[in-house]
Amino acid sequence: MTTARDNVDAAELAKFDSFAARWWDTEGDFRALHEINPLRLDWIRQQVKLAGRKVVDIGCGGGILTESMSAANATVTGIDMAEGPLAVAKLHQHESGAEVDYRQCTAEELSEAEPGQYDVVTCLEMLEHVPDPSQVIRSCAELVKPGGHVFFSTINRNPKSFIFAIVGAEYILRLLPTGTHEYEKFIRPSELEAWARSAGLELQSSIGMQYNPLTKVYSLGPNVDVNYLMSFRRPVGE
Ligand code: SAH
Repeated sequence: MTTARDNVDAAELAKFDSFAARWWDTEGDFRALHEINPLRLDWIRQQVKLAGRKVVDIGCGGGILTESMSAANATVTGIDMAEGPLAVAKLHQHESGAEVDYRQCTAEELSEAEPGQYDVVTCLEMLEHVPDPSQVIRSCAELVKPGGHVFFSTINRNPKSFIFAIVGAEYILRLLPTGTHEYEKFIRPSELEAWARSAGLELQSSIGMQYNPLTKVYSLGPNVDVNYLMSFRRPVGE
């Protein structure tokens, strides 16, 4: 029998545990997450008003996006299965004054406990670290209220994304720690969209994210060949 805790890769959690202490170092291992955060937060805010909304951030890590959504006056819950990042997230909000409800649980567990209770569900840079991403997507669809929004981001799977996201980002430019990503776990936009659709979600928009090694600047644009974000809504009246 599978349980709500089965969809977790212990080796992946150990990896994030080992980097946890440096999560808020804007020049450290998670520099890329710090640099992309304003872009992805803006993209989310273009689609949904966060102020006053009930939000859950799935696979929140040390809380970079989580805290920024709390700063935008949302009521935010952050969940993650790795102890180290969650401990860092809890400590950091004492410094920043954010008020996030951090919990160690899976999306599957939360969706059993609190189905249909969230206006907004975010699950960024996490799906490529779990054994069965379709199950996480299904849980996100269960967590969101009818009419609510669900946001995902991950990495596409094709020869170009192998070169850019692994060889380029981890070995040449060293934007990410070596071993952060495994090519086989990358997800094509068509796969993500099909899983979300079968979970009852409707695609709203998708956008790519690029890094320019000359200017060292990240930007959003139409090209979804490597990093990309996708937003969905749960139809009203379901
Ligand atoms: N979403 C954050 C962090 C991304 S790193 C951001 O974009 O800023 C990926 C995170 O997913 C890590 O913190 C890792 O511990 C978490 N994670 C991996 N598998 C998980 C699972 N099955 N359930 C919950 N969190 C998980």
